Amino acid sequence: MSSLPFAYVRGAIHLPELALWLDAHEARPHGERVFVSHAHSDHTASHREIIATEATRRLMQTRLGGKRVEHILPFGETRSFDEPGSRYEITLLPAGHILGSAMSLVKWHAGSLLYTGDFKLRPGLSAEVCDPTLAHGCDWLIMETTFGRPQYSFPPSTETRCDIVQFCRETLAAGDTSVLLGYSLGRAQELLRTLSDANLPIVVHRTVQQMTRTYQELGWEFPAHELLTDEPITQKVVICPSNGLKTVRPRIVGNARIAVITGWAMDRNCRFRYQADAAFPLSDHADHPELIEFVRRVNPKQVFTVHGFASEFAQTLRDLGYDARALSENDQLQLALGDRSHQLGLDDSR
Ligand SMILES: [Zn+2]
Repeated sequence: MSSLPFAYVRGAIHLPELALWLDAHEARPHGERVFVSHAHSDHTASHREIIATEATRRLMQTRLGGKRVEHILPFGETRSFDEPGSRYEITLLPAGHILGSAMSLVKWHAGSLLYTGDFKLRPGLSAEVCDPTLAHGCDWLIMETTFGRPQYSFPPSTETRCDIVQFCRETLAAGDTSVLLGYSLGRAQELLRTLSDANLPIVVHRTVQQMTRTYQELGWEFPAHELLTDEPITQKVVICPSNGLKTVRPRIVGNARIAVITGWAMDRNCRFRYQADAAFPLSDHADHPELIEFVRRVNPKQVFTVHGFASEFAQTLRDLGYDARALSENDQLQLALGDRSHQLGLDDSR
């Protein structure tokens, strides 16, 4: 492991030879550049100098404010950095996770590295379609493995979207209000677009509206929706993050039926953990079959797994004949110990 030109440091990838970080959680000072894969809060910090897509730049600006040196790359365009102690080429590829989410392909004298950040292969309604083609045959693949266990094999998204619309229709027909729980960046927009043709009255939480506005500025279209105010809510569909439920609930007149939208819905006890009436397995992360399919498509020389079931998934890859090992093990331990915030997605990332 020590001969590798990168290291896993406090949840991030560090390439010391290039003064480059991939998704550093802590703000990096002058002299170090940070690739920010996407704008979820567990992937951003107030860095001095970043490499990102335009969408990620805008979303970071909305969430963090402040000023930074920004190297903005369109997908597929290669940028060379040629400075003493930091010579490499970087290309951003669509990750399919949320708006602007990118994987980074870094090439330098030591070899080529694809880092996925959060990703999914299935086309969604709120992200660009993942495409790792340019990374085919790279030396090293570092991939997230949030759902790296076989039990996390999601049903087709179209089926789940129909189930969500049906849940909302039935709730409203019974005179009640539907509350769809999903984080404000990515999942909420997926839900809004899921309801595009349903012609239902939609109310969104303030943070959802804020993030949706950036999508709209970049040309994405959404069905009509109103902002949550102090007015009472009856027979509507409310979209809000789980931590917004406490402000939504007192405004609902009559009965509320709550649905949680998360990949963890594959766990039988998911809806009880969320104290919800229903749980739907729609995720912005790759499920287990997609993780395997992704490795097959990239066909790297070596694979390193991070997040979620990193060790188990590395073993799965070894059984399939790949040279694979886990870079992070802690997440799995946390899950085994029942880390509630992680499982419930309260970290705004799952
Ligand atoms: Zn994320």
